[in-house]
Amino acid sequence: MAYNITLIPGDGIGPEVIGAARKVIDASGVDISWEIVEAGAISNKNLGTPLPNYVINSIKKNKIALKGPVTTPIGEGFKSVNVTLRQNLNLFANIRPIKSYEGIESIHKNVDFVVVRENTEDLYTGIEHMVGEDAAESIKIITKDASERICRFAFELARREGRKKVTLVHKANIMKLSDGLFLRCGKEIAKEYTDIEFEDIIVDAMSMKLVQNPQNYDVIVAPNLYGDILSDLSAGLVGGLGLAPGANIGEDIAVFESVHGSAPDIAGKNIANPTSAILSGVMMLKYIGEERVAKKIENALAETLKDKGTIDLGGNLGTEEFAQEVIKNLK
Ligand code: ATP
Ligand code: MG
Repeated sequence: MAYNITLIPGDGIGPEVIGAARKVIDASGVDISWEIVEAGAISNKNLGTPLPNYVINSIKKNKIALKGPVTTPIGEGFKSVNVTLRQNLNLFANIRPIKSYEGIESIHKNVDFVVVRENTEDLYTGIEHMVGEDAAESIKIITKDASERICRFAFELARREGRKKVTLVHKANIMKLSDGLFLRCGKEIAKEYTDIEFEDIIVDAMSMKLVQNPQNYDVIVAPNLYGDILSDLSAGLVGGLGLAPGANIGEDIAVFESVHGSAPDIAGKNIANPTSAILSGVMMLKYIGEERVAKKIENALAETLKDKGTIDLGGNLGTEEFAQEVIKNLK
């Protein structure tokens, strides 16, 4: 049976890295019927909107999407395309696996953890206003429902992936009500998962510990802002943006996308690293239950990275050539 999956090439390096990921996935033997939809700069030029309804409708219909970076046009009246997508589809969990690969120069080796970031509230609801002329106020929203949902998600992920520990990150010593609630919810949920170790830590201490000993972590769960910052920090520990995949997950819809943006400085030159897009595809295949194919691609990728890479990794392969090497290593 073929899977129907929405493919959004996106902007900048998007079409190149998504094109490469698609070729690798198609070569792996899994039967996918891609529904290709344009969003971002192209649809803005042709249709006057960076997020046409057909994009949302296609994802709602297929339930699964592989997405390139989509930029939001600068100027009045444009809300972030990515934030709008997450809200419209209620993609409440943002997942970013952080993993070392052999052959990659990086600050740390043998790192393997997952950042689970709450994706719908905290300081990202965008509710802010001026208080007079010389002060501004941003509202931080933390709810019991969203906190319990993301903590449960983190424990379920730990169980599914055979991981041993969940570390909850907060600043409840200062934000006693909001972060205090998040922490309380985590502690409550942890009681249901006695097979998994639970600890909590304040975000400043966590930043130091992650830089010093990232090998100590397994699953990290955090409210939106801390999760955002810690996941970029973590990507930096294992080799950078070209390697970091991600997923936005909701109740029954999931959108897989690299952590990086459109990188206009290197777009159209066949030099972008498609690894993060390919690994986002690997996450997608695991999600739809194609574990075996996902593993096959990840192994081929790891094999390729051992002695070859794109320019950002100090290698000399182009985007396309790198993808071809991965395809050669599929077995
Ligand atoms: P956006 O506004 O869409 O986020 P950006 O200019 O911030 O775009 P990012 O994609 O966030 O660009 O990445 C920052 C820089 O990291 C890029 O300018 C690029 O040089 C580098 N980079 C990002 N992704 C990749 C990649 N896949 N391969 C190689 N280099 C990359
Ligand atoms: Mg960026």
